[in-house]
Amino acid sequence: MSYTKRVLEKVIKLNPNEPEFHQAATEVLTSLQPYVDAHPEYEKAGILERLCEPERIIIFRVPWIDDSGKVQVNKGYRVQFNSAIGPYKGGLRFHPSVSLSIIKFLGFEQVLKNSLTGLPIGGGKGGSDFDPKGKSEREIMAFCQSFMTELYRHIGEDTDVPAGDIGVGEREIGYLYGQYKRLVNSFSGVLTCKGLSYGGSLGRTEATGYGLVYLVEEMLRQHGHSIEGKTVAVSGAGNVAIYATEKVQQLGGKVVSMSDSDGFVYDAEGIDLQVVREIKEVRRGRLSEYARYRKNAVYTPGKGIWNIKCDIALPCATQNELNEEDAKELIKNGVIAVGEGANMPTTLRATEMLIENRVLFVPGKAANAGGVAVSGLEMSQNSTRTAWSFEKVDRKLREIMINIYDNISSVAKEVGQEDNFVVGANVAGFKKIADAMMRQGIV
Ligand code: NDP
Repeated sequence: MSYTKRVLEKVIKLNPNEPEFHQAATEVLTSLQPYVDAHPEYEKAGILERLCEPERIIIFRVPWIDDSGKVQVNKGYRVQFNSAIGPYKGGLRFHPSVSLSIIKFLGFEQVLKNSLTGLPIGGGKGGSDFDPKGKSEREIMAFCQSFMTELYRHIGEDTDVPAGDIGVGEREIGYLYGQYKRLVNSFSGVLTCKGLSYGGSLGRTEATGYGLVYLVEEMLRQHGHSIEGKTVAVSGAGNVAIYATEKVQQLGGKVVSMSDSDGFVYDAEGIDLQVVREIKEVRRGRLSEYARYRKNAVYTPGKGIWNIKCDIALPCATQNELNEEDAKELIKNGVIAVGEGANMPTTLRATEMLIENRVLFVPGKAANAGGVAVSGLEMSQNSTRTAWSFEKVDRKLREIMINIYDNISSVAKEVGQEDNFVVGANVAGFKKIADAMMRQGIV
């Protein structure tokens, strides 16, 4: 049995009840197999076993008091996965579905993603099963302060730099940052996605969505297509989805759908982003309200967004939101490209089907790396006490995304899997980390 298969079996056995982590490890290790087989020195150094075992896992209690005076307790997590190429870096997710499995899959993906950005950042991820939905401002602040009261001792600008993710936007980062500063009495770039008035970077809010579209546009261009005139289905209605939609529209594409966890809207004339932002960003409401503003739009509760006919699909909501049935439907409707804005939104089987059917498929660890890349740029600005213009950050983001595309496509070709960007991204991300780990000894 090959080294990768043996490690995968061991990972599954040693980490029971972690299906999302198993899924991410299966995708990565399977696609690394030919490359790793050609480098027996990796087995001798136990590189894969070390890659799959986080350097440190911190699980903690987060007690807080709700508006009725009742004590609530949530679980907090920080998984410091790999620091071979830089301080741990990765977002915090606040969502009721958060578990160790989810945080580990996200941290594992983050290690490879951060490597692909070309920046000196290692990988980590954290979060809590706290649900920000329906909470008052005071409750959100109380939770964030309690969460940071434990987390602060494990992070630092040269150790571990968390950021936002699902349920953690600028508001939550502000409360987390304020509490960190109060506890350590130091103003440093320990978190990214900060507000502009206290060290945030222009362009960070837009970075993941814009970056996704820059990369997809480059991939299309290299295959004789472009976004202009294309029909695009976007899922989600959060940070990534909103800015992906904005960039597609700027490039002349038509986004006809968006979704949240309750259902999706179809607007044949093209999504009115002002309406979505008013509902989601200003009022923190539900997408079902969209049809009230736009007479011809149709809201459908539940799943089904991938049944919409489109040229390009951008899943930007959450893990495993695009399954085998959805992939069949997209292929039947002639989809040209799928770009993952979310982390692991496509199931393993759906990914295989899309690739087998020659759909241009770009995995999240490459396609959504723009967010962490601009977080890396935020760290640079913080450590040099400077603030760059939006244009400068946006230009660098575009360059980084095009470099990522060039890197994953040339590595895919090198290993004999042209246009398989899953293999390209995994091998390209792995190469740099494995090299750094080999040079640093057995640690
Ligand atoms: P937000 O919290 O801003 O938005 C998430 C969106 O996805 C919401 O519309 C939410 O709907 C929807 N959603 C969440 N869970 C589910 C679910 N179980 N089923 C259906 N819809 C769901 O998060 P982001 O936009 O920041 O993140 C979206 C994805 O992108 C995640 O996978 C994240 O890890 C990834 N990502 C984010 C980056 C960033 O910079 N923000 C960077 C790289 C990746 P509802 O409001 O109903 O919950």
